[in-house]
Formats: sequence, structure tokens, C-alpha cells
Amino acid sequence: MSNIPYKTYLEESEMPKQWYNVRADMKNKPAPLLNPATKKPMTAEELSTVFCKELVEQELDDTTAYIDIPDEILEFYKMYRPSPLVRAYCLEKALDTPAKIYYKFEGNNTSGSHKLNSAIAQAYYAKKQGLKGVTTETGAGQWGTALSMACAYLGLDCKVFMVKVSYEQKPFRREVMRTYGANVTPSPSTTTEVGKKILEAHPGTTGSLGCAISEAVEVATHTEGYRYVLGSVLNQVLLHQSIIGLESKAAFDKIGVKPDVIIGCAGGGSNLGGLIAPFMGEKLRGENDYEFIAVEPASCPSFTRGKFAYDFCDTGMICPLAKMYTLGSGFIPSANHAGGLRFHGMSSTLSQLYDDKLMKAVAVEQTSVFEAAEKFARIEGILPAPESSHAIKVAIDEALRCKETGEEKTIFFGLTGTGYFDMVAYQKFNDGEMTDYIPTDEDLAVGFAGLPEV
Ligand SMILES: *Cc1c(COP(=O)(O)O)cnc(C)c1O
Repeated sequence: MSNIPYKTYLEESEMPKQWYNVRADMKNKPAPLLNPATKKPMTAEELSTVFCKELVEQELDDTTAYIDIPDEILEFYKMYRPSPLVRAYCLEKALDTPAKIYYKFEGNNTSGSHKLNSAIAQAYYAKKQGLKGVTTETGAGQWGTALSMACAYLGLDCKVFMVKVSYEQKPFRREVMRTYGANVTPSPSTTTEVGKKILEAHPGTTGSLGCAISEAVEVATHTEGYRYVLGSVLNQVLLHQSIIGLESKAAFDKIGVKPDVIIGCAGGGSNLGGLIAPFMGEKLRGENDYEFIAVEPASCPSFTRGKFAYDFCDTGMICPLAKMYTLGSGFIPSANHAGGLRFHGMSSTLSQLYDDKLMKAVAVEQTSVFEAAEKFARIEGILPAPESSHAIKVAIDEALRCKETGEEKTIFFGLTGTGYFDMVAYQKFNDGEMTDYIPTDEDLAVGFAGLPEV
């Protein structure tokens, strides 16, 4: 065994004090958000009716490479960061691979995922602006939980629209949010105009992320002292999540290791965008080369089968248009247990990097993901979130490929969270009842037909 430790932590003094904005080093910048009515780029003023002021500045800033992390946020980060960089010695041994495997574990906080990194930042800027509270949507529940924690810490009100099917299937997630003081409403609801419209058009619907976003935005824009916050997709969220990549880079430098392949699951793209940010920066500046792999579910294949086009982020079509790899805002993925990966679109920043061939993407089937999750839980001890397990699956495939070719690659993946609230999914897998629905080209055509003309 080498002298590389199982876990590499940074000292508090070594923790990053700035976020890194990868857009500053991109030659082709991500396309701007457009006003859905005029099809013109959204101005800071227009965005400020929905989002907090400083977050709008971050959203629109394509040129500043490093942005200071405010002291209050650094203090909060210290409660659960740095997260460990782990050398997966046990997994390497079990796979009998010459590859070296590392992962960055983001599940060591009550919300159980990386989402807290951006939740605290967004809540901080809302507080600083003197707002009373924020609204948001949550699907699987991780984002809503993270935001509830951040709002409780700062004394802000938090209104969460939770996709109805999750609200009913994950009562404990809901109770965690309520314990942190959040107001949780199942979506679609009759508390908003857009919710009523959706319910009229689709009676009995169990909701979707797109519907919940529409409701949360409506409440934010119609309630004095409130703004809307989003847990993924946006540039600002990728910026905050760069803490994951920056810590990883610092830890790798500390042990003198350079990863060859960097793998992450991709829902809206925030953990992946954050994980790869400083490494991608080096690639963009021609200083180093890395292979980046985005992993998505075969049931919701935005990168691998989507179109690179302007689209709505929500079902109610009230949000700005974003240029992204998308399946169409009307696309409803089949019941897949990785709730955090069910969004129809992908971050504009990652979409541009993918279109510029700086990054690869693969789609994997649900049962193979849970096989990897089970293997990982038994070998490395951590019970992973279904979302995170997409990255595990591809990291294992890569390590097995190295076994065939004899390559001693260094594989690095993001382990975004724990799966304790996903035991219904694990139960289905254990009982052999898990299915793999892959949309047909005809299914996808329905979503593409709803793309707006720009
Ligand atoms: C939300 C979530 C994801 C996916 O979201 P991204 O914005 O693509 O990172 C992945 N893993 C976990 C555990 C999540 O909660």
C-alpha cells in the first residue's frame, strides 16, 4: 500500500476563501438568459424582481475568475467542511484494478448532500438584502432541506413547494424541513394561480419539478420581501459549488496526485460544475489535461439525447429562457428513483462546455446504478444517494476497463450524498422490482415539439 492516506482533509487555514467562476476562462461563454416575452437578454433589473441582487450580479458575471466568499459563509462552511477526499482502497482491492480511485464525499451534513454549499450562500445574500424570506421548490427533498437549514441559521422564512409525489412518499424529508422551520406545501397546490391552472389541466397530477418552480416563482414575485432561490442549473449555483472542486484540488496538491478522469452525476449540473471547475479552468487555460465525464440517467438523458436550444426552465413557462441541452420543459421522465436527476434541462455553462467537446457524457440504466450502489455500500461502507450512484457506476466501469488494459489511471468522482431517505428505492431494488424505462424517440419528440421559437 502506498503512503497516501485513506482520507485527506484540509486544515481550516487551507480552506478556499474564494469561489472560482469557470465562465471567466471560457472562450465561448454560456448563452444569456432571455426574457420569454421579448426574447431579449434578461437585464439585471428584470432578474432582480425574482432573484436577490448580489446573486443576479454573480449570475451575469462572465469575467471575474475569483469571487470572495463572505466571512459569514466561511464560518458556516466550517461547521461541516472541509469534506474529505477519500482514497477508495477497499474498492480498488475488490475490483482488482490497477487504477487508483478517489472520491469527494459531500454527505456529511444533515441535509445529506452538497446542496448546502449553495443554500447558505443564497440565504446569506437574501438576508443581507434585508428580505423576510425566500421561496423554492424541491423534488427529492435534498435542496429544500438544505435551504431550510440555511434559513434557520440566518433567521429567514422559507417556503418550499415540494413535488406532491415526494411529499407523500417521503414524509420524513418533509418533517426534517419542518423541524428547521420551513413551510412545506405539496405542489401543484391551490395556493397559487399557476398551481390552480396546472391542476385544472391535469387533475390528480402528482406534480413535477417544473410545476413546483412555477409556483415558487409566483409566490416570490407576489409577496413583499421575498425572492426565489434555485438549487441547481443557474451559473450562481455552480459558482458556489466550486468549493467542492477547489477543496479537492487543494487536497490532491497536498498529496501530490493528479486525477486523470473526473466523473460526476448530472441533474441540473451544479455538483458536477462545481467539482470540475478548477480542473476545467486548467484545461481551458492549457495548463493541464483531464477527461471529464457527466453521468445521467437513461430515463432523463438531457446531454446524450437532448437538443442544445433555448427552453423554459419550468412547466408554467414564466421563468426566463435558458440555452441548454434539454428534453423540452414538457418532458416528464418515467418514475426514476434518482429524483435529483429528473430535471429536463442542464446548466448553460456545462451545456456550452459539452457542446465545445471539453466534456463527455454517458447515460446509465437505473438497475445497473443500484447494483453499483449496493457494491459500494458493502465495500466502502457509505450508503450512497441514488443520484451519486450514477457516478459510482461509471467510476467502477472505468476502473474495470483499466483492469483489462493494465492502465494505472487515477479516477476521481463526486459522491454527492447519502441515501437514507431513498430506502423505498433500495427496497424496490432488493425485491427485484426495479424497472428501467428508457424513453423512445417518439417520447422525446413530444418534449422537443414544445421547445419555444427563439
Ligand atoms: C440534487 C442532487 C444531485 C443532482 O443535482 P446537480 O445540480 O446536478 O448536482 C445529485 N446528488 C444529490 C445527492 C443531490 O441531492
